[in-house]
Amino acid sequence: MPTSVDAPDTLTRPFDVAQVRAQFPTLQRTVHGDQPLVYLDNAATSQKPDVVIDRIRAYYAEENSNVHRGVHRLSQVATDAYEGAREKIARFINAAHTHEVIFTRGTTEGINLVAHSLGASHLSAGDEIIVSEMEHHSNIVPWQMLCERVGATLRVIPVSDAGELDYDAYADMLGEQTGLVAIGHISNALGTINPVQQMIADAHAVGALTLIDGAQSTQHSRVDVQALDCDFFCFSGHKMFGPTGIGVLYGKEDLLNAMPPFQGGGDMIDRVSFDGTTYDALPHKFEAGTPHIEGAIGLGAAVDFIEGLDMDAVQAHEADLLAYATEQLQTIDGLRIIGTAQEKASVISFLVGDAHPYDVGTLLDQMGIAVRTGHHCTEPLMDRYGIPGTVRASFALYNTRDDVDRLVQALKRIQPLLS
Ligand code: PLP
Repeated sequence: MPTSVDAPDTLTRPFDVAQVRAQFPTLQRTVHGDQPLVYLDNAATSQKPDVVIDRIRAYYAEENSNVHRGVHRLSQVATDAYEGAREKIARFINAAHTHEVIFTRGTTEGINLVAHSLGASHLSAGDEIIVSEMEHHSNIVPWQMLCERVGATLRVIPVSDAGELDYDAYADMLGEQTGLVAIGHISNALGTINPVQQMIADAHAVGALTLIDGAQSTQHSRVDVQALDCDFFCFSGHKMFGPTGIGVLYGKEDLLNAMPPFQGGGDMIDRVSFDGTTYDALPHKFEAGTPHIEGAIGLGAAVDFIEGLDMDAVQAHEADLLAYATEQLQTIDGLRIIGTAQEKASVISFLVGDAHPYDVGTLLDQMGIAVRTGHHCTEPLMDRYGIPGTVRASFALYNTRDDVDRLVQALKRIQPLLS
């Protein structure tokens, strides 16, 4: 396995999957009696390492206080930890400014924030918003709602049988009427890695803005929002080893400044009077009310965890898992993989003969194997393939070839029960 022992960055530790697994308490447990857990539902949510769990405990045990408003010591400690997490995240995604990082509840809220605020300030009747057929509902429904509000039109880039975007169709859709292109970086249902850098450049060439749904990318790859040049980028803490209920909206400073607030309340104001209210500067303008303080701090710890790993080695490990699992699953009679894009992350959707995905998932669960079944919040994509859903095995950096073997052995064992 490749390691970074010789890497010049002394902060980088070699990647050692056994040592990484040991840091995740959930991965040590059994389910249904004595079945060791094989956790292959990482696209839904990842497990949490000790450093994240311990950091949240330490916050509540030693630092708990509300942020921003207090003169007392604990409030200052909590504020420093909360704002320190924002700085870590800004560095992690290479934002030009820390105040371009807005804390949200997750990807869904980030997209809704942009749909609401950008919709109010930048989009109107006649404008088009482009999404793709493989988007998560979170990157479809807010745009449909916005289109209804302002009279804009939603355009949809078709997906090929292999699960790749039809780039020519996308290029044909772009024009001066395009207000926004909103695209998933990595498909949660198929694993397809979309060519977002090129898509962003082409959108900008016609004057359109771009939003990247990064819910599936921050756990698998390095994200550099300046290199991507996206206008907005949204992600969720819980999918990248951090807590639930916290996420990030990155937006370019000038756009965020030009957008009206999403929600009103405490912490987002400059001055309130019945004659009129003025709003605080970024990032607080978009963070009304008491924030998810321990969530942000826990996400900061998750960023530290990821940055302590050699991402090249992690990516090589996940590429090996994807290749090995793809090869091994194909040894199962009647198994069909849905999504065979050239550029793929370690997510494999499949069907076994005519068996309903739910039956497959339920039987696998009895053997300790956690996979997701259903439409994965991508109903239009399932319609495109004419299927009700899939079984999805999604791998994270702590999974092993042994996990793949257990999945494949279990599928072979349950196969007679499925026909
Ligand atoms: N976008 C994609 C591609 C996802 O996979 C998900 C979650 O599965 C979301 C958006 C929504 O993320 P959240 O539920 O954390 O807001």
